[in-house]
Amino acid sequence: MATRHVVIGGGTAGMNAIRTIREEEAARSEITLVSAEKPYSRMVLPYYLDRSIAESHVFTATPRVLADWGVKAHLGRRVTALDAKANACTLDDGTTLEYDDCLIATGSSAVRAPVPGADGRGVHSFWTLDEARAVLAEIAPGSHVVMVGAGFIAFTILNSILALGAKLTIVEMEPRILPRMIDDAGATLVEGWLAKHGVAIRTGARLATIEDAKGRKRLRFAAGGDIVCDVVIMATGIKTNLEWLKGSGVTINRGVIVDDHLRSSVPNVYAAGDIAEGRDLITGEPAVHAIEPTAQEHGRVAGANMAGKDVRYRGSLIINIVEVCHLDVASFGAWDEAKAEAASGVKPDRPAYRKLLWRGDRLTGAIILGPSSDIWTTNDVGMLKGLVQSGVSLARFKAYLKRNPFDIKPAFIASKTTSALLPETILGRPSKAPGNTPVAV
Ligand SMILES: Cc1cc2nc3c(=O)[nH]c(=O)nc-3n(C[C@H](O)[C@H](O)[C@H](O)COP(=O)(O)OP(=O)(O)OC[C@H]3O[C@@H](n4cnc5c(N)ncnc54)[C@H](O)[C@@H]3O)c2cc1C
Repeated sequence: MATRHVVIGGGTAGMNAIRTIREEEAARSEITLVSAEKPYSRMVLPYYLDRSIAESHVFTATPRVLADWGVKAHLGRRVTALDAKANACTLDDGTTLEYDDCLIATGSSAVRAPVPGADGRGVHSFWTLDEARAVLAEIAPGSHVVMVGAGFIAFTILNSILALGAKLTIVEMEPRILPRMIDDAGATLVEGWLAKHGVAIRTGARLATIEDAKGRKRLRFAAGGDIVCDVVIMATGIKTNLEWLKGSGVTINRGVIVDDHLRSSVPNVYAAGDIAEGRDLITGEPAVHAIEPTAQEHGRVAGANMAGKDVRYRGSLIINIVEVCHLDVASFGAWDEAKAEAASGVKPDRPAYRKLLWRGDRLTGAIILGPSSDIWTTNDVGMLKGLVQSGVSLARFKAYLKRNPFDIKPAFIASKTTSALLPETILGRPSKAPGNTPVAV
């Protein structure tokens, strides 16, 4: 009998797993996908918001493509319970699906600040396609948009809101913007840059309530100073979609705990993407990394193992990259490790900033920001990521890099970082030239 795989969640992790099962399996299996939403990429929603892509370009697989892949799909359906002992899960329409193995890839959802009025009309999250549609329908040229929360997701949609002709104010409870992505020195430069580009920022601002104000919204703050606006976007964090796993027999902490094969505590139940708590590449500790590259890699590794291969995963690198008003801002790995040996450099006038963090002769974390028009900014974002990800020894270059954090290229080339990263893909296959392979990882 053909192996029966059930994939729960049709986002990045789930779709990468399905594609990998089909690529790696020795004999044709049965694949069933259950997904509350049609398969699409959340990461491209900012480009849908500023209308640079059509809605149809958001989707990663149509029902036709799924049928071509031989996937039986239950779209618009949720799994409500998993019984790992019985190897079965139950859907919200009462259907029961039995499996030989299953993948949990249910991702995360947006959470709103717990203040009165947070669920009112004109207040939005920005995590799903439905939420993106609702925001797009409300913003018109001249609208005043207030974004509550100055984290990574807020910054991914900042350009799009401005491109729609809206006036933007960002309010943040913490004393600085991007508190989980860059340090104080970097945040000060980004804040100054955004102010120059007409974005109002208020940090250390604790929101108290959101009220209706004659068809508009009034935000009241603990320290006073109301803001009246047209649209409120709550970018106040996300939570893993775990509730339905209670009583399933699968061990859960911040996410579903997985081993280096992406297996949960139940050997035929895998987890991947935002929902999985897997190994952090730099610290080796369990971590939830709610980012696209982790979802892709987890999906590939879980899919290969479900197809009968034996693929071990090294761990995922935390990667944060945004571009706001033509300023590139990025951080990698253990960028905020207080005990690490660190060296930084700043050019306030560009503005540009680098911070390199070391453990011994290896770079374990980095922060970089600078104008996108400075060609070295974009190049160095990639090179710094490569140096942290590969963990190559930089002994010969360390002293130089500490004195010259803006001159990365010689160390990157001489340490053969590219050859450390390129010979193998995540599945251990030899790398191929673009065009010779349909997949990126
Ligand atoms: C606006 C925006 C911009 C982003 N930009 C970036 C970026 O630039 N770089 C980056 O690295 N990351 C970015 N991300 C984050 C990235 O999109 C996520 O990390 C990625 O989507 C995670 O993939 P996933 O497959 O784990 O989960 P998801 O993509 O969230 O997919 C989960 C799927 O499971 C379904 N589901 C949930 N519960 C159930 C259930 N009980 N039963 C059945 N199905 C269920 C959901 O409907 C969904 O289809 C961005 C996210 C957003 C919202």
